[in-house]
Amino acid sequence: TTSIAVFTSDLRLRDNPVLHAALRAADQVVPLFVADHGLARTGFAVPNRVAFLADALADLDAGLRERGGALVLRKGDPVAEIRRVADRIDATEVHIAGGVSGYAGRREARLRAALAADGRTLRVHGAVVTAVEPGEVVPAGKDHFAVFTPYFRAWQRIGQRRVLAAPRAVPLPELSGLRSEPLSAVTSLAPGTPSPGLPEGGETAGRRRFHTWRRSGLDGYADDHDDLAGDATSRLSPYLHFGCLSPVELVCRARESGGAGAEAFVRQLAWRDFHHQVLAARPDAAHTDYRARHDRWRADDAEIAAWKAGRTGYPLVDAGMRQLGHEGWMHNRARLLVASFLTKTLYTDWRIGAQHFLDLLVDGDMANNQLNWQWVAGTGTDTRPNRVLNPLAQARRFDPDGAYVRRWVPELAGVRGPRVHTPWRLPEDERSRLDYPDPIVDLEAGLARFRRARRRD
Ligand code: FAD
Repeated sequence: TTSIAVFTSDLRLRDNPVLHAALRAADQVVPLFVADHGLARTGFAVPNRVAFLADALADLDAGLRERGGALVLRKGDPVAEIRRVADRIDATEVHIAGGVSGYAGRREARLRAALAADGRTLRVHGAVVTAVEPGEVVPAGKDHFAVFTPYFRAWQRIGQRRVLAAPRAVPLPELSGLRSEPLSAVTSLAPGTPSPGLPEGGETAGRRRFHTWRRSGLDGYADDHDDLAGDATSRLSPYLHFGCLSPVELVCRARESGGAGAEAFVRQLAWRDFHHQVLAARPDAAHTDYRARHDRWRADDAEIAAWKAGRTGYPLVDAGMRQLGHEGWMHNRARLLVASFLTKTLYTDWRIGAQHFLDLLVDGDMANNQLNWQWVAGTGTDTRPNRVLNPLAQARRFDPDGAYVRRWVPELAGVRGPRVHTPWRLPEDERSRLDYPDPIVDLEAGLARFRRARRRD
């Protein structure tokens, strides 16, 4: 018998319940990935993520070949392609990870119907993309948690799951006539140049990163995760987004290490699960603004362009935006600040910022991105709606010496010490030599405008 393991957001061999189950169900398995043209049409495929994805697929293929298998890569509509491959090899079962976005839900429903019509079985596996499956813990009488703290309490009560080893062998059926596309089928989904400082994708690179960070960064994580210049977070988010690393395994390994750093890290992984279960229950949360009335966002094109380019005149905001352009990644503390600046100080619709993030972030994720933006903008379900981050206060706390700004804003690289955060206060001769803009908004005026707008809500 033959089964198909469809890879989606689980591009790994270790602790992969989908591959594991497909191997148990049949003598031979076809590992399949479909470069989905629908993702190109929705704009979700962008050069940074597609480059990382291509690395991850190459790494997966290499790992499968070491085990006697090979990745079959197709392009087009995933349902049509899976069905074609299933017909060709006469697969009895198709295995796939459960997704959480509206898009993944519709794909799954179509696939189920198509396979049923052909007399084949679709098996959808949970706790692949997240450590705890959406819907696995729910408050009495509800389908999801809208607030993190009670969610986290329930999440922690779920026992530790078994971490599955990588399969020793992945026996492939005779593939006569089964076409496999080159990797360019993936990169062509989003033509364009990726950011220069993009990390290398794939399970091998992700595991290397995790092992290094577990030794050198985990212990200090609770204390250092907000230190912008220290860059002390794990940087595992793109590997988690593409499933090159298993969240179940990360939780397990962190708990084995123990300590305050590990606890804080596990809590962040729970935030990831939290957002996924919100999106799974409310797919519209990706785009809906839940405030009662929301017709008063400002949309000043020049301000939005300055924000995107990292030319707002507030060095810490600009440093974050430059890091995003250069690495396709931004430190969490900077994400909070630039998002607060756009949505509260400039009072611009959060969806404009969320879309810009999705255009660039290598970890860009419908659940984490959209719901974090909702959270910062104060438009979602679990929020502190009136909290506004002040770039100068944030600079004092999280980049006291200005090293993060000097790293990312080359125009200011020569300004020593914390003075780099307030270039408008520099002596005129020094100021005039810097090719750096004056602030595009007065913070007090921005705050007053925000308060007026929210009072009317
Ligand atoms: P670490 O601090 O090492 O945390 C470990 C892991 O926990 C992360 O890799 C991530 O998977 C998860 N995590 C940490 N913080 C959060 C959080 N607040 N919400 C959900 N998961 C979290 N994260 C994404 O993965 N994709 C996104 O598109 C994304 N967009 C964001 C947009 C905004 C406006 C904000 C404020 C945050 C966003 N985040 C997003 C969450 C967070 O900023 C990143 O996960 C984190 O910066 C990634 O770096 P790291 O891997 O070093 O994180």
